[in-house]
Amino acid sequence: MSILQTKQPYDVTIIGAGASGAALLYTLATYTNIENIALVEKYSKPGQVNSKATNNSQTLHVGDIETNYSLEKVKDVHPASMMVAHYAHMLPESERNMFLFPTTKMVLAVGAHEVAILEKRYADLKPLFPDLQKLDRAGIASVEPAVVEGRDASVPLLALYTTTGYAVDFEKLAMSLINNAVKNNTNIDTFFEHNVVKIVKNKTGYKLIMKDGTDIETKILVVDADSYSLLLAQQLGYGKEFSLIPIAGSFYFSKQVLNGKVYTVQEPKLPFAAVHGDPDVNVPGQTRWGPTARFHPVLEARNFSTMKDFFKSSGLARGKTWLSFFIILLDPIRFKYLLENMLYELPYIGTRMFIKNVRKIVPTITAHDVTMAKGYGGMRLQRVNTNTKEMLLGEGKIIGDNAIFNMTPSPGASVCLFNAMRDAETIVGFMGGLTHFDSINMRKDLYMKEVISTDISIQHSYVS
Ligand SMILES: Cc1cc2nc3c(=O)[nH]c(=O)nc-3n(C[C@H](O)[C@H](O)[C@H](O)COP(=O)(O)OP(=O)(O)OC[C@H]3O[C@@H](n4cnc5c(N)ncnc54)[C@H](O)[C@@H]3O)c2cc1C
Repeated sequence: MSILQTKQPYDVTIIGAGASGAALLYTLATYTNIENIALVEKYSKPGQVNSKATNNSQTLHVGDIETNYSLEKVKDVHPASMMVAHYAHMLPESERNMFLFPTTKMVLAVGAHEVAILEKRYADLKPLFPDLQKLDRAGIASVEPAVVEGRDASVPLLALYTTTGYAVDFEKLAMSLINNAVKNNTNIDTFFEHNVVKIVKNKTGYKLIMKDGTDIETKILVVDADSYSLLLAQQLGYGKEFSLIPIAGSFYFSKQVLNGKVYTVQEPKLPFAAVHGDPDVNVPGQTRWGPTARFHPVLEARNFSTMKDFFKSSGLARGKTWLSFFIILLDPIRFKYLLENMLYELPYIGTRMFIKNVRKIVPTITAHDVTMAKGYGGMRLQRVNTNTKEMLLGEGKIIGDNAIFNMTPSPGASVCLFNAMRDAETIVGFMGGLTHFDSINMRKDLYMKEVISTDISIQHSYVS
């Protein structure tokens, strides 16, 4: 049984309508002459999994407050992430204001060791971010008074601060990208509520078989399904050496105590675990705290039916997967962190344990001031290479035969348009001379404005 027999096979089919799939659809529709494109999504609307506004921290990560990024990474991430802001600024104000929110951002150093890290970082970053300010205690108190109130005056304090940051509702960004893609190419077909359960290779390319028995044929396949991308790749024999460590991130709310985003200096071995405070773009008058970092064996937050798919894609039947997990998770720093984070889920004492992370930012806050943000939080599936026994932070990409599989934990949403630009180049390569990608105009519109690095080779990846 087939949907829309007449248009098949599609030239390109994208699985997943989060920020990544939506950005690729927009890129192909706007900057290539590929006519016949399909987007397949299992939920009824875009951005319902990790791109959902409730499921991530809504930060456009450009590298100024992310102390775990090397300087080289900052140079790459900055222009890549700013593509989202540039895209937004091409739109009418009313549409832009739906998903892009200017905000202040700060990274806070507490104690002499962290202060020394930030001093050095400021010197390195200032040429790249001329707006970045270095604030002492009094400067911090003038912009974020709650960070200084009640704090031991003998503890050294320093912050890097900018007034030119952005918060993004990535769910609404995905919607905007898809709407504009469909406007730019009226030949696009979008299939919502179509869950791809199996992919088989055939002589024209790939056949995607849906849960309801329908199917779609495509010459080129791009899987932008984040946590599900590895499972779908493995069905076709790719990425068998990878497993996934499933890190759930949950949040808490307090009344509004911060004016903008306040991050802390990160632990390099667990960069996804440093708690920060953010205004939630959809919840005025409150501050959102988190995320926590808890081992939780599912592929989608709050969806226990995805547990069996986690076990399918994790390769736990193989001894070397277990060995890799032991080596990675028994590292003393990670083990302590993950154990503590599991305890945060316990009633009563959990919040009391978690609050010490928040007190690093706002010393006077108490466990009574915060409540668990029910229904908030997402999953960061960290890839593990079971051959090298390493955890691979940041994005992952597998390029197969006319197929691309993207695994996109943080900051995948921030760099979605950059990743789409790279994938468009690969797709054009797959199609030989049959199609054209106007990458020059895409770069002019969205990328070239802060050109620092122009290398967009797929070997580049980001540390989250
Ligand atoms: C706690 C937390 C905080 C984060 N904070 C930030 C942040 O501040 N800034 C940032 O840039 N990033 C952040 N991230 C990361 C960010 O959320 C992801 O990088 C981003 O949302 C990934 O987008 P995506 O489109 O690749 O995946 P998703 O948004 O997860 O979309 C994948 C889509 O594929 C669909 N799909 C999956 N399988 C199938 C199938 N078989 N058939 C059909 N459809 C399918 C899903 O339904 C979904 O819509 C955070 C993540 C977490 C968990």
